[in-house]
Amino acid sequence: MDEQDMKLVVVGAAGRMGQTIIRIIQQTPGVKLHAAVERNGSSFIGKDAGEIAGAGFCGVPVSDDPLAAFLHADGVIDFTAPASSVEFAGLAAQARIVHVIGTTGCTADDEAAFAAAARHARIVKSGNMSLGVNLLGVLVEQAARALPAEGWDIEILEMHHKHKVDAPSGTALLLGEAAAKGRAIDLATQSVRVRDGHTGARPGGTIGFATLRGGSVIGEHSAIFAGEGELLTLSHSALDRTIFARGAVTAALWARAQKPGFYTMLDVLGLSH
Ligand code: NAD
Repeated sequence: MDEQDMKLVVVGAAGRMGQTIIRIIQQTPGVKLHAAVERNGSSFIGKDAGEIAGAGFCGVPVSDDPLAAFLHADGVIDFTAPASSVEFAGLAAQARIVHVIGTTGCTADDEAAFAAAARHARIVKSGNMSLGVNLLGVLVEQAARALPAEGWDIEILEMHHKHKVDAPSGTALLLGEAAAKGRAIDLATQSVRVRDGHTGARPGGTIGFATLRGGSVIGEHSAIFAGEGELLTLSHSALDRTIFARGAVTAALWARAQKPGFYTMLDVLGLSH
C-alpha cells in the first residue's frame, strides 16, 4: 500500500453495491478502503467490512459515524438512498473531498442540494456508472437527433431485480434525457411514465417508459425507436455489478484531480461534448 493511495469511504457498505465496491477497491491499485459506514441500527455495525463483502478480513470495522469516517478521507463512494446521499454530500462539502453518487430516485430538491454541495465537494453523479451505458446514452442521443419525431416513436424499456425500490430506473431516465436532448425537447413535460386503461392513441413526440421487475436481473435497458415498418433497438445488459463499482472507483480517482464542481460519468469517460 502506498502513502499516495486515495483513501475511500464506502457508505452503504453492506448493500449489494457497497459490498461489490469494497471488493473492487481491494483489487484496484491507487485506492484503499479508509472506512465503511452503514445506517444507524444496522446489524453490520462493528463487523469487518472485508468479511461482509466476502473478500476476507481487512481490519476496517463498519461504523455508523459518517462525520468521523470522512474526516481524514479523500473520497466517498455512495450507493445508498436519496436522503442519505443528500446528508453525505453536505459532509463531503465540509470535508472538501470527492463524493461519487450512484444513488438513484433523487428528487429535484435532492439535485439542488447536490449542486449546492458541489461548490466545495468534487461530486460525480450518474444513474449508471458503466462505460457501456454511458456510451449507449451518446448513441441514443445521436439516433434521436437523426430520426424525425414525426414517424419515429421513442420508448425506453427496463428490467431490474425484485428488490429495486424506484422506477423508472436511473439508467432509464439517463437514456430518456439523452433522447430528449437529441430531440431538443424537455423530458419532464414530454415523457409518458405510466399507461393503464383506455389511454387513447400515443401522443406524438413523447418518450415512453416501461418498467419490469423480477428475480435477480442486474439491469436490462433498451431504447426502442419505432418507425413505420422498421424498429431500431439500442440496448445494454449488465451481467455483473462490478461494472458499476469499477466505474465508481474510476470516477473517484478522476475527480481527485478536479476542481470542486458537479460532474457526470460523461466527463469522467471523456464522452461529454
Ligand atoms: P441496497 O439496498 O442493497 O444497499 C443500500 C445500502 O445503503 C443498504 O445496506 C442500506 O442499509 C445503506 N444505507 C441506507 N441509508 C444509509 C445511511 N444513512 N448511512 C449508511 N448506509 C445507509 O441497494 P443497492 O442495490 O446496493 O443500490 C443502492 C442504490 O444504488 C440504489 O439507489 C440503486 O438504484 C443505485 N444503483 C446505481 C447504480 C449506478 O451505476 N449508478 C448501479 C446499481 C445501483
